[in-house]
Amino acid sequence: MRVHLTATAAAAVRRGHPWVYRDGIAGAAGRAASAGGRGARAHRAVAAAAVVAASGEVVELAAEGAPFLGRGLWDADSPIAVRVFQRTQAPALDERALAERLERAFALRDGWFAGRDTTAYRMCNGEGDRVPSLVIDRYDRVAVVRLDGGLLAPWVERLLPHLARALGARGVRSIGLRAPAGGADAEGKKLTHVHGPPLPERVVVRELGVAMEVDLARGQKTGAFLDQRDNRARVRALAAGRRRALNLFSYAGGFSVAAALGGAGRVTSVDSASAAHATAQRTFRENGVDPSAHEFVTADVFDFLEKARARGDRYDLIVSDPPSFAPSERAKPRALGAYRRLHTAVARVLDPGGVLCAASCSSHISMEDFVGTLDDATLERDDLRVRALHGQPEDHPTLPAWWEGRYLKFVVLE
Ligand code: SAH
Repeated sequence: MRVHLTATAAAAVRRGHPWVYRDGIAGAAGRAASAGGRGARAHRAVAAAAVVAASGEVVELAAEGAPFLGRGLWDADSPIAVRVFQRTQAPALDERALAERLERAFALRDGWFAGRDTTAYRMCNGEGDRVPSLVIDRYDRVAVVRLDGGLLAPWVERLLPHLARALGARGVRSIGLRAPAGGADAEGKKLTHVHGPPLPERVVVRELGVAMEVDLARGQKTGAFLDQRDNRARVRALAAGRRRALNLFSYAGGFSVAAALGGAGRVTSVDSASAAHATAQRTFRENGVDPSAHEFVTADVFDFLEKARARGDRYDLIVSDPPSFAPSERAKPRALGAYRRLHTAVARVLDPGGVLCAASCSSHISMEDFVGTLDDATLERDDLRVRALHGQPEDHPTLPAWWEGRYLKFVVLE
């Protein structure tokens, strides 16, 4: 099917943006929902609303004055109607072309992680690796595949032999398919076995020399927040000589163990999920750190901060890495307010001379917007400076035109 784009959508595709939203479709030629078998009329252009294809179908993109803009895959259900895979006529968009791109993504990781004592990383970051909607995270001998939207679901069976071969050559034994956000079976498991030996529920991986237990069956994201790897290493370096560190929204304790290994005297981890603390404590032990010398608090972060302030507890290293406050563009003003409230409460328990690491994982909040939620008025103090701005690591690459892919912000104030 050939799909005609609006001028705006066509301009985005030319810049290399990989998404065409449904309202970027002006019409189609070649086939319409009700035109099958009506001879020449089937080739007449049809209105945008009547453009129907099956998820996973290859579509050619065109626009006014541009008979060929590129090729993509149709998604019948997502607000993103087409994900763009290529801007060139050749080669054909088939599983071999996809397998070649995957091989390129995997080969880059071979170089990036060689000799770094790291066994968990993102092997393919979807759009950022030019394989839109396909995310593959490696946890040592297990690879977890996640599909955004429905376009690649019909391709999985054909892609699997290629994946098994390319991943197998790198020591991956089992492949699991992660259910879309929110999906889980009756036992709460979110991972379906698709290749190799049975999937373990938990694995211990290594990250820049640090052991980390990952809950593959029930954990968040594909098991762990691999995108914070370099920032965890930064926290480890910042922790030297600190008396009391505080890790807010601590999940499986990645930043906590980094602070403890880096030399922080006592680390307090706060999360509303007690199961995450159990994982964190096992990770402490895996690294030879006694968790009983540290503190794990199951509480709402805002309640905790209020009580800590009232008690007079102060910290000289604080990490704050909340879940996304802005799931959509519309939610942005409210999200900025929530970040401000959080940062005000955090600043009240930060020692003079302390370091604050504040993170945001929402793509709708830009770095500039986010840094703004750490201004003097919000923090109610004027003794801090922005020491560094960081983002996501190399295994989470993006494209210049794909701003949505640059979601992680990590601001260090001192
Ligand atoms: N910093 C973590 C990832 C944090 S994910 C890492 O690097 O691995 C967000 C975490 O915040 C989840 O574990 C969730 O249980 C927790 N959470 C969400 N809202 C919370 C709240 N209001 N109070 C405490 N914990 C909360």
